Amino acid sequence: MKLFGSSGIRRVVDREFLQLTFDIGLAVGNSYHSVVLGCDTRTSSDAMRYAFLSGLLSTGAAAAHAGVIPTPTLAYATRHFEAGAMITASHNPPQYNGIKLINPDGSAFDSTQREQVEQMVSTKSSKTARWEEIKNCTDYPEAVAQHVERILADFPTKLKLKVVVDCGCGAASAVTPYLLTRLGCDMIPLNCQPSGYFPREIEPVPENLGELVSTVKSEGADLGVAHDGDGDRIAVVDEKGRFVAADKLLALFARQLGARVVVTTVDASMLIDELGFEVIRTRVGDAFVSDELRRRAARDIEGEFGGESSGCFIFPRVSLCPDAIYAAAKIVQIASEHRISALVDQIPSYPILRGAVPGDKATMDEVENSLKRQVESGGRLETTDGLRLAFGDGWLLIRPSGTEPKIRITAEATSEKRAEQLYNLGLKTIEECLAREERATT
Ligand code: MG
Repeated sequence: MKLFGSSGIRRVVDREFLQLTFDIGLAVGNSYHSVVLGCDTRTSSDAMRYAFLSGLLSTGAAAAHAGVIPTPTLAYATRHFEAGAMITASHNPPQYNGIKLINPDGSAFDSTQREQVEQMVSTKSSKTARWEEIKNCTDYPEAVAQHVERILADFPTKLKLKVVVDCGCGAASAVTPYLLTRLGCDMIPLNCQPSGYFPREIEPVPENLGELVSTVKSEGADLGVAHDGDGDRIAVVDEKGRFVAADKLLALFARQLGARVVVTTVDASMLIDELGFEVIRTRVGDAFVSDELRRRAARDIEGEFGGESSGCFIFPRVSLCPDAIYAAAKIVQIASEHRISALVDQIPSYPILRGAVPGDKATMDEVENSLKRQVESGGRLETTDGLRLAFGDGWLLIRPSGTEPKIRITAEATSEKRAEQLYNLGLKTIEECLAREERATT
């Protein structure tokens, strides 16, 4: 039974999901004997939390509840426990909820750990404890203070900037406004009341953040930041009210941190390759970036940094969980040294085209054979995630969607014309493969 994706499990909350949540708590308690819990602001948080806790505690495991906190805050607290469980559906609409399971180093449960939980749920093999071994849940109110103090330790000076903060009424409401105030900022809150309802669409993408842009402009702020529902993603608006692309944020953070190695995903912009970092590309998804940083942790954690185009950034010195709260402090620090707009304008920009066509795994095999022929014309074919054909002046990525029967096409190049050419090469290759498949079946 496959329950978990790399970002946990998410569903509309109903009786069936609550019963499943009990079974997941039971399975987690069989393998992890001390677990810390956190929730985002959704109105189903308590129902989900009690269902999970009921299963977990009935195994005799110890549980501590850290309250409404962002995922990175819970991840930082998890270092004192065997595992962390975050009740959240991240940027899904308010009727959803879910569970993210976290290791003491802040990384998400890997595929082996997830499969172990899934196996116990599907075979109903979890064991419960005798009554006298069952404990009550304790409170863990210090998670926010611990995370904030850890972040402040890296930012010794007062940063007197005017910053608009839009938490979307999600879990970051509990931390980012407080952190920025502690940093010395004149903080203007937008949607920072943790109501459980999201007054704007909760994904921090430009189409949902009009109020942030207009407030940055009307207040003459130095910058604006926004989060998703569980505070592991950030969006940034510069002092001119322009969105800063996440690929450019990756570059700004990596430079400011003095990173030598940048771990990012195969669909991130090639601009990062031009800035002198050793760039390592993983499959799409912040969990893969985190996995790679974990794999490398024994080598040179001081010089390493990771992130991806969705606005997730991982600061391995703090934890291996994407930490948009730390990222908020970091972008404020950068803005205190230079105007964000000037820094952004110095970073190269390349046209990037994205689209999707219907298709499946069989089509991908055909596409691979066709693309191999392109290698003869100077391209380099990489298969980290889907098929990435790289040239000196651009690249084309063709990969199956993880959630829909579609094949996604992404192309980026030094000119609009070349990006279109690469995009059309991808489109034409898929269409020819689909036509051949159709001829073969009729
Ligand atoms: Mg999230």
